[in-house]
Amino acid sequence: MTWTRHHVEVAETCDHNHPHTSHLTECIRVFIKDSYTSTFQSGSNDQMYGCMVSWGLGCIVFPLCLGVFQIGVFKPLLVTSSHVLSPAFGLCSVAVSGIATSVAVLATYSNCNVSEYRGLDVRFSDLVCYGVGSAAIFKLLRGKFASVLPSTILKPGAFAQRGIPATKNYASSGKKATLAAIGSRHGCHTCGKRRTAKSFIADHQPPLSLPKRTDILHTLSKFFRPHQSDYRFYPHCPSCSRVQMTYLGAMANQRTTSLTKGRVVRMDLNHIVTHATSLRLYHLYLPLPVIMAAAYNVCAG
Ligand SMILES: [Zn+2]
Repeated sequence: MTWTRHHVEVAETCDHNHPHTSHLTECIRVFIKDSYTSTFQSGSNDQMYGCMVSWGLGCIVFPLCLGVFQIGVFKPLLVTSSHVLSPAFGLCSVAVSGIATSVAVLATYSNCNVSEYRGLDVRFSDLVCYGVGSAAIFKLLRGKFASVLPSTILKPGAFAQRGIPATKNYASSGKKATLAAIGSRHGCHTCGKRRTAKSFIADHQPPLSLPKRTDILHTLSKFFRPHQSDYRFYPHCPSCSRVQMTYLGAMANQRTTSLTKGRVVRMDLNHIVTHATSLRLYHLYLPLPVIMAAAYNVCAG
């Protein structure tokens, strides 16, 4: 199914005197209605096959692109979900992944429908539409942009919800039960594992072995919220807990050695945990940006 002048004419002869945005909405409505009729009611197997294959490919390519960004770009650059600019980095990652996926979907659909193949014609405005549309759908599916970045075991991770107030002591049985409920619903706060994690450990954040914070932000926070606890508990899977213990142990040894030798502690990549296979609803690719771009092109003339 491709855009024809028919869709514009139907939209233009509509009873309402639309402003531009309503006209675009009407174009999309007519396009979806005609696509549905020609694909599913006239028995066009080629088109149905093309729709299913291209959408299926999109559902694989979108999370794959996000995973490539996470492992190949953000981890080497030491940019994690707790970085102050993580929402902006996450937004860029989602938009670029959405653009790449939409182009792949469009190319696949065109190739599957040999009778309608007219070559791939993608303009700059289409790419903008793909990026903005993908980011909007990601938010509509309740995604957090920062959550597509890797986690650090030194701070609340990419899947962290609001934690439970904690002291320096171990979690009580009541708090452990609450954390187990949070973990089974939202997953390990670092790697996002839910069903594969058999049990959850109460993770102190910030870790108890780290030096106490003395920065200006922490001082201001304590001034305005003097009764707020310094620590919070988050659910941790055994695997991330092991990574944390190993890293903090090595860091403590290194700090001792460095202090004695007068050197600064060297940070490395071992405190960063990627979670490209922990998929959520917001990793689903919906081909709406491709439809929106096609509608915009027709309306813009
Ligand atoms: Zn984990």
